[in-house]
Amino acid sequence: MNVNYTYSNKLCTGCGICEDVCLKSAITIKRIDGEYKPVIDESLCLGDKCSRCLKVCPGVGCDLTQRAKDLFVEESVKEDKYIGRYVGLHTGCSLDEDIRYHSASGGMVSQFLIFLLENKIIDGAVVTGFDKDKITPYSYIAKTREDVIAARSSKYCPVALNKIGNEIIKAEGNRYVIVGVPCHIQGLRKRASIDRKFREKIVGYFAIYCSSGRNFYSQDYIFKHYGVVRENINNFQYRDNGCLGYLTIDTVDGSSEKHVKVPFTTFYGPLLRSFFKPHRCLSCIDHYGELGDVCFGDIHIKPYSDDKIGISSWITRSEYWENLFRTAADEGYIKMDELDAHTLNESQKVMLYPKKRKAAVVVVMDKMIGRKTPVYDKEFEKPMLKDYIAVLVCHAQRFIGRHKKIWWALEIINKGK
Ligand SMILES: Cc1cc2nc3c(=O)[nH]c(=O)nc-3n(C[C@H](O)[C@H](O)[C@H](O)COP(=O)(O)OP(=O)(O)OC[C@H]3O[C@@H](n4cnc5c(N)ncnc54)[C@H](O)[C@@H]3O)c2cc1C
Repeated sequence: MNVNYTYSNKLCTGCGICEDVCLKSAITIKRIDGEYKPVIDESLCLGDKCSRCLKVCPGVGCDLTQRAKDLFVEESVKEDKYIGRYVGLHTGCSLDEDIRYHSASGGMVSQFLIFLLENKIIDGAVVTGFDKDKITPYSYIAKTREDVIAARSSKYCPVALNKIGNEIIKAEGNRYVIVGVPCHIQGLRKRASIDRKFREKIVGYFAIYCSSGRNFYSQDYIFKHYGVVRENINNFQYRDNGCLGYLTIDTVDGSSEKHVKVPFTTFYGPLLRSFFKPHRCLSCIDHYGELGDVCFGDIHIKPYSDDKIGISSWITRSEYWENLFRTAADEGYIKMDELDAHTLNESQKVMLYPKKRKAAVVVVMDKMIGRKTPVYDKEFEKPMLKDYIAVLVCHAQRFIGRHKKIWWALEIINKGK
């Protein structure tokens, strides 16, 4: 078997890690129907004799509980039903106002990476900026402050880490950090279990919380809705200028310029919420990144949400990283406060609790039509009637999102936004 199993059962997350581990270069990640998918040259594939692609695949599910138990073992480790195993919970921000203002939330990912690089604690960090076309995500190894800053803020579109693992193996030094969404981190942890060369290069897996990904049609729709010609884009950010920030698009066409600046809450919620969700995200139960050494997100609860420049929340899962944050605070890189588990979970409640229940509904429905479903070593949460209704509505929305010919329906819904 190979990742055709994942693809044909709609289990693929598009993380791309299968391409990177294939010893026969039989897998190529391609953009298909607005998502990244593996295309397999069966004539090269070794099938059951190898199956490395399936061994690293987060799409088929993940033994989150067991892996977290094996990874985070210190006496100080606490456990929360939603957060997983952790040592510290925090809020804070970068003390560089420019980084803070232009990052997704408090600029904590970028600022902490800069602290690690400037203090030579790591040799590099995998971050995701945009390619030369300014809209296609591009993952690379950042070695300097400037490299890190160029990738700041969230990319609400598919991101495939299909080459970067092997680049790290070839790179000088053996202290790398990788930043990714929870499914990236699951796949990378799986890779580390079977690939010594890769494992020995990575000192930190940094997750960003994720309620769900979005496919590339969401970008197409944004450009259509705001009358943007993609070839003219010279700056595009899903979130910029404060927190939660603004969708920001600047275009230049000869001497004429166009600037789109729409509050995040206007474009992300009603405009995109479910229309462009990839199928596999619907059965995901890992919101925080339970296998990340450190996990970063927003903090959607008062008094933090009153701040309009930017505050991040984060979770550390070992003393090593907890202590490094304290050093970064002592050295004036970051501001850092304590947080409790209840407040963190409540700050994510709109996404976190329904996500866990709706995943159970999606799995039941997929099984009913004969699809394979992801296997976790955790019970799914018990869904309520409203979750079944929400999943049916979501499927209808996703149908519209996949069919550009009926986007006029989206235009009616989003008139004036
Ligand atoms: C798809 C998606 C869904 C999210 N859902 C939630 C949520 O439900 N709740 C919540 O609190 N937070 C969520 N976040 C996280 C939030 O948007 C911020 O990324 C987080 O708060 C970190 O902000 P920061 O200012 O500390 O990071 P920054 O300093 O802005 O740095 C962000 C880092 O993340 C990397 N990055 C950005 N997007 C991606 C991506 N798609 N794949 C891999 N690497 C990436 C960048 O390269 C950069 O290094 C989501 C992010 C994404 C991409």
